[in-house]
Amino acid sequence: MNAPLIIVGAGHAGGRAALTLREEGYTGRLILIGDEPHLPYERPPLSKGLLQGSVDLAGYSLCDRERLAALNIEHIAANPVTHLQPEQQRLQLADGQWLAYAGLLLATGGRARRLPQAQANVLYLRTHDEALALRSALRPGTRLVVVGGGFIGLEVAATARGLGCEVTLLEAGPRLAGRVLPPVISAALLALHRQHGVDVRLNVALESIQADAVQLVDGQLLPCDLVVVGIGMQPNIELAAAAGLEVGQGIRVDAQLRTSAAHIYAAGDVCEFRLDGLYQRQETWRNAEAQGRHAALNLLGRQLPFDALPGFWSDQYDWGLLTVGVMTPTVVTRPLPGGALLLFYLDAESRMQGACGWAPGNGAAKDIKLCERLIGARIALDTASLADSEVSLKQLLRG
Ligand code: FAD
Ligand code: NAP
Repeated sequence: MNAPLIIVGAGHAGGRAALTLREEGYTGRLILIGDEPHLPYERPPLSKGLLQGSVDLAGYSLCDRERLAALNIEHIAANPVTHLQPEQQRLQLADGQWLAYAGLLLATGGRARRLPQAQANVLYLRTHDEALALRSALRPGTRLVVVGGGFIGLEVAATARGLGCEVTLLEAGPRLAGRVLPPVISAALLALHRQHGVDVRLNVALESIQADAVQLVDGQLLPCDLVVVGIGMQPNIELAAAAGLEVGQGIRVDAQLRTSAAHIYAAGDVCEFRLDGLYQRQETWRNAEAQGRHAALNLLGRQLPFDALPGFWSDQYDWGLLTVGVMTPTVVTRPLPGGALLLFYLDAESRMQGACGWAPGNGAAKDIKLCERLIGARIALDTASLADSEVSLKQLLRG
């Protein structure tokens, strides 16, 4: 009997890959191995709808148990892969069993980066179970200190304000989400959070966390009931590194998402691939979705280069942020009514490479979709027209 295809990591990218393999007609044995006890699920609701109490796990699982069974996908849950032997094309699970594979996808994602000491009043957010623990701790009047002004910190702060918590947010850098967002959006986020009553402090260094307070290096003591730490993600590369696969900040892959070991691919947050010549990882829903699907096709021998556009979104209070493509040094700003805006990133020939939209609710979605088409069209654009909100993007697309 032929060895199966195996996917390690039953999260978003892994789950999507398994479903795609069946959709694409793969009929052989297919095993999806996870260390969490749940069906594969999407994480964005963990900092939003789940904390608000508006959705539950079934609402953001990629599929239900019946569908997995109908597709004959063997889901091994709560049983992490502990060893990988690429030469022998086999791996071992925590329960001791060895499984041989014909092809393997590593979609092991990442975990929340932790502060050195564990403490009962400090929570992190990466998994469904961590989100449930946080949800039960967020009550009206809870004094919450959020450490980290990245997406976890900002989305948790917004949701916690909605639940009636008192929120202080501490960011080490000079602006919010400073590594991934342009200054004008960081400033808009800062204004929005302050408007909603969050005490946002920038350039702040943490000294220690005590049972009922957070101590800053400058000596200030912030009394609190709960601390949520969102200081970044650590990719789960250890399994691959121990097996001798090439790793950097993630598991390194070539243009087809193949790792340095034969028959092994990587996808999602853990995958380090070249974009514009530089190795990088994308920690986004869109990337997990696209790479999960793509790796599945290549496991079936398609040999397709991965060239999907990056992008992500974030919802905070009643505002939405959307990005697509890449940011370049040449940026054109289109101000929109009520403080909304669109940013367009151009190359040296004035062709669009990326865009970012900031608007109430879903207000930027249509324009960002059009930007995606403008990026694909590779046409030189007039910067004055881009900056002018009277000129529709559809019109620019028609040339
Ligand atoms: P994961 O979803 O983390 O899945 C990896 C799985 O592999 C995990 O279950 C992990 O436990 C498991 N695993 C690891 N090692 C092993 C092993 N040895 N054996 C077996 N299993 C293993 N992105 C956006 O674009 N927009 C958003 O609004 C947004 N919101 C987010 C909110 C939160 C709270 C979080 C945490 C992330 C959010 N993201 C968002 C990012 C997005 O969810 C991730 O990029 C995506 O989940 C990555 O998918 P993945 O499959 O690569 O990793
Ligand atoms: P993140 O986006 O990398 O942000 C971490 C932030 O914390 C950075 O601004 C960082 O500043 C700051 N920081 C680091 N150490 C600090 C310290 N000791 N004190 C105060 N601030 C500190 O990571 P995250 O917010 O933890 O998110 C984790 C993962 O979830 C990421 O993969 C993220 O993409 C994903 N996620 C995505 C979304 C979304 O896309 N909407 C939503 C939620 C989560 P420096 O950069 O200066 O170090």
